[in-house]
Amino acid sequence: MTDINSFITKVELEEGVEGPLAGFTIAVKDNISTKGIHTTCGSAMLKDYIPPYDATVVEKIKAAGATIIGKANMDEFGMGTTTETSYFGPTLNPHDNSRVAGGSSGGSAASVASGEAMLGLGTDTGGSIRCPAAFCGVVGIKPTYGLVSRYGLIAYANSLEQIGPIAKTVEDAATLLDVIVGHDVKDSTSVERKSCDKYTDFVGEKVDGMAIGVPVELIEGADEIVLESFKTAMDRMEQKGCMVREITLPSLEKAVAAYYIIAMSEASSNLARYDGVRYGISSGFEGDWNRMFSVSRENGFGSEVKRRILLGTYALSAGYQDRYYTKAQRAKAWIRKEFENAFSQVDAIASPTMPVLPFKLGEGHKDPLKLYLADANTVPVNLAGLPAISIPSESSKKDGPIGIQFVGPRFQEQKLIQLGSSVEIE
Ligand code: GLN
Repeated sequence: MTDINSFITKVELEEGVEGPLAGFTIAVKDNISTKGIHTTCGSAMLKDYIPPYDATVVEKIKAAGATIIGKANMDEFGMGTTTETSYFGPTLNPHDNSRVAGGSSGGSAASVASGEAMLGLGTDTGGSIRCPAAFCGVVGIKPTYGLVSRYGLIAYANSLEQIGPIAKTVEDAATLLDVIVGHDVKDSTSVERKSCDKYTDFVGEKVDGMAIGVPVELIEGADEIVLESFKTAMDRMEQKGCMVREITLPSLEKAVAAYYIIAMSEASSNLARYDGVRYGISSGFEGDWNRMFSVSRENGFGSEVKRRILLGTYALSAGYQDRYYTKAQRAKAWIRKEFENAFSQVDAIASPTMPVLPFKLGEGHKDPLKLYLADANTVPVNLAGLPAISIPSESSKKDGPIGIQFVGPRFQEQKLIQLGSSVEIE
């Protein structure tokens, strides 16, 4: 691993208290509110913003004794797959500085991979925990929608996103997950559940007898090197007593299109508040309102954010809503149903996390559509509200970072911890 610049903006170290995270340093993605500490969302729009309160997850990790060592770089407002859309510049991949760290939680994953932090908090709207975890060779968990409070998370697309852990090992990720889960009255989408066993209890539990489905739709487009690595991981699962078989989920062909329509529509609505008056940097322009808002938004947002606001506004506009937004919601319901049916036959679903190796810096942005398509294996999970884990594959050491993804039924994170720890590289 090469020597790299810091992936995070350092904050002053506080003495940790006792608790399950005592002794752990943690990098917090910069869209999660930290009281008294800049929270910029990787955007010029919020470059001076200092929240007056902590997100619920931040309160929880502090109470558990973690030491927050910094805020982690990210794609602007979470919109990206490479952490190159950040106003503050790209995050480099610690394994190879000519490549991206993945996104949008690239800073969190790179800081864990490089040893700068022991743990990371990321957010996953369409893959933003799992993609950088895969590209940086670390573990990432996207929890079931509603398991972790989103209070204090600056929204990109509320109906899809969750906060989750990034760590070097499944055990460390499970330790962080145990701390951050739970119902929160401040987040109406957080789910009230009876307390269950600790996730860490499932690390290293036997997986024999588990049925694993591999959807053909999620392996078709993958690069040869990724497929080889995935096959080796599945052979290993079979040796451990799992039954691995191909399944088909035809609805997944619609996932990328449905995801981008829903995510952009929600983004266009969520980001309307940044006008330099209510929120965000002001242009200082004096004159009529419209002009003032326009100049603030023109200066405050980067080009990817602007693209998505425009497309999202279009998808929601009168006359087009049925054709785009409503149709995307229908595809979402179909995808959810197909996953539900699949889970009546298999315990978990496996695929490569990303169909490709980390992009070279600058490569992906020549063609935004190509970048969107690289999310094919991660976005269906968010549309269906399911939990998923990404684990570095065995061949990552020789071929470069490749992630294996397991997806489970709702609130069955423990199964993913079991499966993940069984393929983990020792
Ligand atoms: N790459 C996806 C996007 O750009 C996912 C982002 C995310 O999960 N925040 O929307």
